[in-house]
Amino acid sequence: MAGIGMCETPGCKSIAQLQCPTCRKLGIQGSFFCTQECFKGSWKTHKIIHSLAKGEGADGAKGEFNPWPSYGFTGTLRPFPPGPKRTVPPHIERPDYADHPTGFPASEHAAKGSGQIKVLDDEEIEGMKVSCRLGREVLDEAARVCDVGVTTEEIDRVVHEACVERECYPSPLNYHNFPNSCCTSVNEVICHGIPDLRPLQDGDLCNVDVTVYHRGFHGDLNETFFVGNVPESSQRLVQVTYECLSKAIAIVKPGEKYREIGNVIQKHAQAAGFSVVRSYCGHGIHRLFHTAPNVPHYAKNKAVGVMKAGHCFTIEPMINEGGWRDEQWPDHWTAVTADGSRSAQFEQTLLVTETGCEILTKRAAGRPHFMDQMEKLNS
Ligand SMILES: [Zn+2]
Ligand SMILES: [Zn+2]
Repeated sequence: MAGIGMCETPGCKSIAQLQCPTCRKLGIQGSFFCTQECFKGSWKTHKIIHSLAKGEGADGAKGEFNPWPSYGFTGTLRPFPPGPKRTVPPHIERPDYADHPTGFPASEHAAKGSGQIKVLDDEEIEGMKVSCRLGREVLDEAARVCDVGVTTEEIDRVVHEACVERECYPSPLNYHNFPNSCCTSVNEVICHGIPDLRPLQDGDLCNVDVTVYHRGFHGDLNETFFVGNVPESSQRLVQVTYECLSKAIAIVKPGEKYREIGNVIQKHAQAAGFSVVRSYCGHGIHRLFHTAPNVPHYAKNKAVGVMKAGHCFTIEPMINEGGWRDEQWPDHWTAVTADGSRSAQFEQTLLVTETGCEILTKRAAGRPHFMDQMEKLNS
């Protein structure tokens, strides 16, 4: 059953079956504890979520939690208090930045000068296939819990635990000091949203971006999910964004230029009246989380490189309902649309083969979760 897992008390690894009665009444999912003692011990931080769900401030007072009083938000979304810090057991292999004080990825930095795109050997390809398959399993777990009343922090907990169960380190955790195990990007958030205690609302779009690190290799993917009854205009945005990714994947084969991907994506997005984000790109991925090639999603870009069998990289178009311009919240992570319009994204990790490409993070069902949701909504 969704929501029953480990106790919410940080550091407590016990099976939890007691749900907070206030959360149950308010329709907040999750919030399971192992014992009354753990529940009482967590009460001081846990009760914040009740106030927030009732539209009160974090301290129970009317008015909003706002860490940046002078920042002019572009849309209606607001930051909520963060959840607990999570740790990964020491027996799981970790990337170099995991224990660095600023989360600096030294190996990525060392590879930067060359700009060379690595051709993976058979053993490395096998390693990528395993990581990407595990990453897909983790995202599918996130899809199961993403719903009205669930906080993005709860999604982060599910992702974190699903990683640990599979002997994976959640790659975003401490990468350049990123505080969580996945990115959750809601409505006008383009990417790199930080999971927090905001309960998802009916009609929201929520993208969950998962990357796992397993035995030396990263696997990276994301999908945008519907939260309850999503307006038709947002359904269309998500559909077109998914088509942009599919059309881009269709041209991947040896000899193709990396810069062509952006032409395909922008053509389709523009025809639907949408725009393409320019500040964030797809990337090479293998032993390094982000490396060459750089893969812009917009037209007439100057990306260098030609695809070769054995290359691994992501395509992850971010498509906006309004203009393409983005800005950042003062947390230096959350990227939002400058006009507050909604944004959607899909990502897969690809391996270039002799004849085309293999989608290493493909879902077993062959189609993304939102299509299942759309079928239910419109039936
Ligand atoms: Zn990703
Ligand atoms: Zn990525």
